[in-house]
Amino acid sequence: MGMATRSLTTEAGYINSKRQKVLRRVAWMDAGRDGQYVYHLQCQRPSCLFEYGSDGISIHQRKCPRCDDGKTGLPVPPQTVGLFG
Ligand SMILES: [Zn+2]
Repeated sequence: MGMATRSLTTEAGYINSKRQKVLRRVAWMDAGRDGQYVYHLQCQRPSCLFEYGSDGISIHQRKCPRCDDGKTGLPVPPQTVGLFG
């Protein structure tokens, strides 16, 4: 692997053209979309850093709900870094 022709928009660390970064996949699915995982995104504008959830297929075009007039994000659990590995 490593020569993927499609962009891995659901990979942790991916940042889209609207400066929205994928932090991780959330451990539940979006009830509104069949089989779609929810991803925890964070706005990379230093004055914002807003965190919210998005379904995977929207990541590449996602705009920040707080500072860039994007649609309201899905709920995400609080960060628990280190607690469960
Ligand atoms: Zn923002």
